[in-house]
Amino acid sequence: MKALVYHGPGKKTWEEKPRPKIQEDTDAIVKVVKTTICGTDLHIMKGDVSTVKEGRTLGHEGIGIIDEAGKAVKNFKKGDRVLISCITSCGTCEFCKKGMYSHCEHGGWVLGNTIDGTQAELVRIPFADTSLYHAPKEVNEDALVMLSDIFPTGFECGVLNGQVKPGDTVAIIGSGPIGLAALLTAQFYSPAEIIMVDADDERLKVARKLGATQTVRSRDGKVVEKVMELTGGRGVDVAIEAVGVPATFEICESIVGPGGHIANIGVFGEPVDLHMERLWSQNVTITTRLVDTVTTPMLLKSVEAGSLHPEQLITHHFKLNDIIKAYETFSHAKEEKALKVVLENR
Ligand SMILES: [Zn+2]
Ligand SMILES: [Zn+2]
Repeated sequence: MKALVYHGPGKKTWEEKPRPKIQEDTDAIVKVVKTTICGTDLHIMKGDVSTVKEGRTLGHEGIGIIDEAGKAVKNFKKGDRVLISCITSCGTCEFCKKGMYSHCEHGGWVLGNTIDGTQAELVRIPFADTSLYHAPKEVNEDALVMLSDIFPTGFECGVLNGQVKPGDTVAIIGSGPIGLAALLTAQFYSPAEIIMVDADDERLKVARKLGATQTVRSRDGKVVEKVMELTGGRGVDVAIEAVGVPATFEICESIVGPGGHIANIGVFGEPVDLHMERLWSQNVTITTRLVDTVTTPMLLKSVEAGSLHPEQLITHHFKLNDIIKAYETFSHAKEEKALKVVLENR
């Protein structure tokens, strides 16, 4: 079978690999039908993620069809259509029992990281019963692929941790796929205002189409002034960080109002100044989280009912065979006006 293999920083190939085999009775082998490329994959390609070793098949998102189920797999059989979660969970360890699947002692984020991932014709999924979901028949496949990672991530780390409430003013810093997933799922709670911030006009245009009530272009360095002006000097109730660099986190610290929440989603590679000299008296809550994918069943129901349309974030489609070209497009997101790219294996 073919797979997209990481060979060290800047090096990847679409190459022949042995077909994955069942290693534990709780494994399933899934034929990948659709997968996508994540911002995290680009970080891996830069060499930023030290747990990913040379020879690893990348990818942690996708939908597929069960090709083979291990003897102990109870919920799935050959031929079932499934959604693959980016988080693998054993379901029995201390963290899994607390619903903190991201910290599963035998799983967590392993796909395309410490074990071979979904950017391949076939993938081995450990703990299939607790790491896969049945794909509802009527649901658009493109919408489903978005539920592997970005929608639960935007929703859990941004919206739920930020405690978005009816009437709130929410600011989301970063209008990439994750920020836009937070924008769409924040609307479950009817906030009064959602202010989207980004450097790219094209992304802000998309944000307005998807429900942003205000947009702020970040390139001139006046985001804080503009957001404070939009909120009558009070600041926002919820500031969601969806970039992962010190400058954007510091914007959140400056625009959060008294009693507000800063919910971090961004993946940080360096330290950030925490302005306690201002924040100590502001009744502010700061949260961090890895996605646990505990909301995947709820998001599946919302998509099935037609109240959430994650496929709106997809800008490009490729054949899985053309994945190198798809990486090229995704890594030049601005020029290509790319948000999510979907790869199809048929
Ligand atoms: Zn991802
Ligand atoms: Zn576990």
